[in-house]
Amino acid sequence: MGIASGQPQPHSLVLWTRLTGDDLPPSVDVAWEMAEDEAFARVAARGMEPAVAADAHTVHAEPTGLQPDRWYWYRFTALGQRSASGRTRTAPAADAQVQRLELAMASCQRYDVGHYAAWRHAAAEPLDLVVFLGDYIYEYATGANAVRAHTGGLVRTLAAYRERYALYKSDPALQAAHAACPWLVIWDDHEVANDYAGLQGQTLQPDFAEQRAAAYQAYWEHMPLPKAMRPVDGQMRLYQRLDWGRLARFHLVDDRQYRDPQACPRPGRAGSNTVKAADCPDLADPRRTLLGAVQERWLAEGWSLHQRWNLLAQQTLMARCSWTDPARGATFWTDGWDGYAASRQRVLGAVADRRVSGVVVMGGDVHANYVADLKLDFSDEGAPVLATEFCGTSISSLGTPQDRLDRARGFNPHLHWARSDQRGYVRLSVTPADLQAALRVVADARDVDSPVSTAARYAVDPLRAGAVVA
Ligand code: FE
Ligand code: CA
Repeated sequence: MGIASGQPQPHSLVLWTRLTGDDLPPSVDVAWEMAEDEAFARVAARGMEPAVAADAHTVHAEPTGLQPDRWYWYRFTALGQRSASGRTRTAPAADAQVQRLELAMASCQRYDVGHYAAWRHAAAEPLDLVVFLGDYIYEYATGANAVRAHTGGLVRTLAAYRERYALYKSDPALQAAHAACPWLVIWDDHEVANDYAGLQGQTLQPDFAEQRAAAYQAYWEHMPLPKAMRPVDGQMRLYQRLDWGRLARFHLVDDRQYRDPQACPRPGRAGSNTVKAADCPDLADPRRTLLGAVQERWLAEGWSLHQRWNLLAQQTLMARCSWTDPARGATFWTDGWDGYAASRQRVLGAVADRRVSGVVVMGGDVHANYVADLKLDFSDEGAPVLATEFCGTSISSLGTPQDRLDRARGFNPHLHWARSDQRGYVRLSVTPADLQAALRVVADARDVDSPVSTAARYAVDPLRAGAVVA
């Protein structure tokens, strides 16, 4: 089912594959090898890993003793067959003065409504990393306007989640993107179910905890994550930090597992809503949290003054986005950070208190490209900018109508760019001197061969937050 790698550390990483086929034995020994060259003439590490039926015959191999900051090739052999080979790399040593990091950030690859031309283009770029920010699969049955089918209907069981990953991973462009470089991954809601919050499903279904446990198991099985992250009792610790020498620290967070339920849902339901702030005092309740108290503290304590950049990989738009004029009464979508404003204040407050520089927030979820200034008071145009946000558009999932965003930009002057009508990914080029972002968009995600272009370019100075047109 393709190959993948992830979790690059200076001396280790994770290699992934899944065996397919009927009548697989309960346990299959899978040999893996890593080489310094594409022809596998200079093998650097090899080993054997069992692929067992209880984990859907997935393999999570964890080679160690690797050299920092170097490229490797890897492949698997099992039952007399050899996989394709992939390219991966380790992170630089902890104290390395790294001159450049090239990455693509992406999210929301709903399979039935679009093709993955964006992945084909991303895979052809000279990337060190892909950072995937959630909605790797969608649990839905095939929707309206489909270009290809979601087989199997609405997903709720472990078997069905595994089938859905198998479908997505059958796409050759997605396979190519995994084979090109290591990935860092976090989930959003659709790896489980739309708009879930902690152990609460959108329709308040009584068996949701069971469904979530199945979804977390399938997620771990299909991602290049280490064995230590395997879910236990329906919980999975996904949030973590990874350093890229002295250049950058990644903070990868989980805004689904520990959040409070969304404020002011529609009657008889849970999940998101769009509400007037004046009608929903819960929006401002300081006890409510998007990350959970433990993870919030973990994030506040981990901002680095040792690295040039602090890259926060999280799920959704962090900047305030009022859908009506705040002077006459703000209107917010309750599933994102606007639904947890006190939590956002605490996160950004820690950045201000600790005088952390080079904070860039990466997001997805909303199927639109946003470039934004982050500050403690969005209603004050003169408030200091504390961090820079690039919330990237979807690979294929459909966005909200563009005229809504055009109106909202007038109410939210800290949004420099807001386009929901384009699909693609964001290319980030990170150096000690600056961070460059290119919003890469495909002409038509319904076209498997769509060309790509750059819709906009921005630059960020590590010592002065805020994006400027490049
Ligand atoms: Fe999505
Ligand atoms: Ca989402």
